[in-house]
Parts: sequence; C-alpha cells; structure tokens
Amino acid sequence: MKARHKRDDNGRLIGGALTVFMSRINKTDGCWYWTGRERTKGYGGFTISNKECLAHRVSYEHFVGPIATGLFVCHRCDTPGCVNPAHLFLGTNSDNINDMYAKGRYPLQRLRDMPRDEKKRFVTCA
Ligand SMILES: [Zn+2]
Repeated sequence: MKARHKRDDNGRLIGGALTVFMSRINKTDGCWYWTGRERTKGYGGFTISNKECLAHRVSYEHFVGPIATGLFVCHRCDTPGCVNPAHLFLGTNSDNINDMYAKGRYPLQRLRDMPRDEKKRFVTCA
C-alpha cells in the first residue's frame, strides 16, 4: 500500500507527504502559519492515508515525537493555525484549562462550573 509510506514508524512524514506538508507552511521568525485547509476553529487540517489529521499534531509528531494517547498538543503562542514545533507542547485537558486561566482568558471558577460541551469552545489544545 502506497499510503503506508507517508509516515515512518516514528510518525515522521516522508517523501511526497513531507513535501506537501512543508509547502503549506508560511514560516515566520515566530509562528509557522498553516496555509492549507482549515479543519476547525482555526486549526489546520492535513490528510494522511485518507485520515483527517490536525496539522499542528502532525507537525508535533514529525518534529518532536509521538503523542501519547489522551494528550493534547497545546500552543504557547495561542495561535491555533501555528504549526511551529517550538510553540507546541503536550498537555492534558486540565493543563489546557489551567493554561487558559494563567493567560487570563477565562475565570477559573467559571470554567470549572461550565458544562463540558460549553468548555470545549474555550479549549485551545487539540
Ligand atoms: Zn506559534
């Protein structure tokens, strides 16, 4: 299957998939802006082997390493469309919420009381 050769065993993009991925990034000294399709809420989308992936997660796996099950890839820069591996870090959902609080985006108590569906709208990691 040709599709198997888009990433190696460590999740690094190879061959044409890497070329296409890199061609969709507008690198600046700060953020690397995704210029490809937007998947949702400002996050870039990238298809690998017919699977719809989030561009910043693909970037993290390629440049940094595997993402353990259940972890989110968060943005230090708060720019969902950024795929600069230096701006990405792994977090749990509660890290995510604490991070939002630390950045003053939302009062912690209101976040804690918020219904799960509502909370999702404020989560910047995916
Ligand atoms: Zn960034």
